[in-house]
Amino acid sequence: TTDMETKSFEADVARLLHMMVHSVYSERDVFLRELISNAADACEKLRYEAIARPELLGDDPKPRITVVADAENKRLSIEDNGIGMNGAEMTEALGTIARSGTRAFMERLEAARGGEKAELVGQFGVGFYSAFMVAEKVEVVSRPAGSEEAWRWTSDGKGSYSVGPAKPEDAPQRGTRVVLHLMEDAVSYTEPYRLERLVKSHSGHVPVPVSLVDKSGAEPREIADGTALWVKSKNEIKREDYTDFYRSVAGQYDEPAATIHFRAEGRQEYNVLAFIPGSRPFDLFDPDRSGHMKLYVRRVFITDDAELVPRYLRFVRGIVDSADLPLNISREMIQQNPLLATIRKGVTSRVLNDLAKLAENDAEAYGKIWENFGAVIKEGLYEDFERREQILKLVRFGSTTTGEASRSLADYVAGMKEGQKAIYFMTGDDRARLEGSPQLEGFRARGIEVLLLTDPIDAFWTANAPEFDGKPFKSVTQGGADLTEIPLNKAEAKDKPETPAEVDGFLAFVKETLGDDVSDVRASDRLTESAVCLVAPENALDRQFERLLSAAGR
Ligand code: ADP
Ligand code: MG
Repeated sequence: TTDMETKSFEADVARLLHMMVHSVYSERDVFLRELISNAADACEKLRYEAIARPELLGDDPKPRITVVADAENKRLSIEDNGIGMNGAEMTEALGTIARSGTRAFMERLEAARGGEKAELVGQFGVGFYSAFMVAEKVEVVSRPAGSEEAWRWTSDGKGSYSVGPAKPEDAPQRGTRVVLHLMEDAVSYTEPYRLERLVKSHSGHVPVPVSLVDKSGAEPREIADGTALWVKSKNEIKREDYTDFYRSVAGQYDEPAATIHFRAEGRQEYNVLAFIPGSRPFDLFDPDRSGHMKLYVRRVFITDDAELVPRYLRFVRGIVDSADLPLNISREMIQQNPLLATIRKGVTSRVLNDLAKLAENDAEAYGKIWENFGAVIKEGLYEDFERREQILKLVRFGSTTTGEASRSLADYVAGMKEGQKAIYFMTGDDRARLEGSPQLEGFRARGIEVLLLTDPIDAFWTANAPEFDGKPFKSVTQGGADLTEIPLNKAEAKDKPETPAEVDGFLAFVKETLGDDVSDVRASDRLTESAVCLVAPENALDRQFERLLSAAGR
């Protein structure tokens, strides 16, 4: 048509496209699951909009995705009867990088080399633009639900795209058709069996049925039935089914580290299918710290920002499908709904319990989870006081007796020395430096274990007076970490020498010399080799915490 407008891609998109085409060839199968997942998203968006406006569905209420293979013309299309896009929406969605994940992906991709690159594409999934890994030209024709007008977007992925109106008869009745003009070496993606295998293995659990039409003559065939995995009973579900679903719901491309699947019944009824990812999602430390659990109501997708788990469990991915929430609730109102609070509580308890069970039954698997997400889980120690005891059981520590962060507080308490009343810890950013600290001498000499806390977050929760098993946490740099009560060895326990008088004189001299720079000077049992060390007064801020505050300009 004549009124097509040509526009340049946002600089980032152009860079991304260039990198995709040139560096990640070996992982190109992913394009299909990305396009099918977009088609399914579009159907779910429509299903949601249609709750308030049923007329949007017209005489075609059942969502569907159709993959059309046309070997003769070297074309592959993915068509849906979902929400559709108009021209402005195409420009926004297909000309810029809207999702932060893609941006994060690019940063990582630029830093990676060779084989790592393919692995990254595997991990991230890169959305719509992955179409250009197999297509020399991509055409998108769309008709928004409820609209008479149709729109077209085309690009060869080399810097610019065109967008403008399309003839309605060239577009689907409703929804979007993405047509891939396949590169010569990608024509095999039109082979029906290859397509079927790819769809089944990578998109078998999208909540919309997928059919395959082979232009060379065969009948259209349904290759995925669109049944939501979470409503099936557990013994019908294979491990691969869970993995496939995890990948599509989490946008991760690894194996889940743990799968949590249950149905809550009683006062409230809901299904939960949640996963602990096998690796860190890219946005784990984004400032908004938002979660990614999707909320469904009776199989209808409602929103993915209902905060179904607390922030310190934001790495959990999956869905909650409620039988009781009203369908016609607005996304804004949902947050206030008391039913949602109950669900949140139920899901949180279950996730923490399952983690505790795993820690008990499979320390190695749990250790991996802790390594990836421990720093996030620890945020719960000061954000969720109600569950602090429960979370403390999950925490693993590095200490003066163990190399890795693998010590539980139960282990620590079991190994406490006679006369020891507190759980001793030291915070800092560097383990090696902590280990060399003179503060530890007296503890070492007495065989007392000290937890070495090196996550920035540790300075915060330890400042909140935690206790475990009735024992307070105490920083070794605080004056209270007084070791006089704990005998150095058996002989000393019997007759403890008095502090000689010269020491008192010397202390008075030091105190006078230093004046207001210190609040006190004391003889101490904490040193065995070094002559002096600085400690924070009892009940004052821990030294590391003080440093953090002053670094933050407070
Ligand atoms: P994401 O799916 O994570 O948002 P994508 O790159 O896969 O990122 O897609 C970008 C956007 O393009 C989508 O958010 C959506 O707005 C739009 N889009 C892509 N495919 C379709 C489709 N089949 N129907 C409607 N909108 C689509
Ligand atoms: Mg997508």
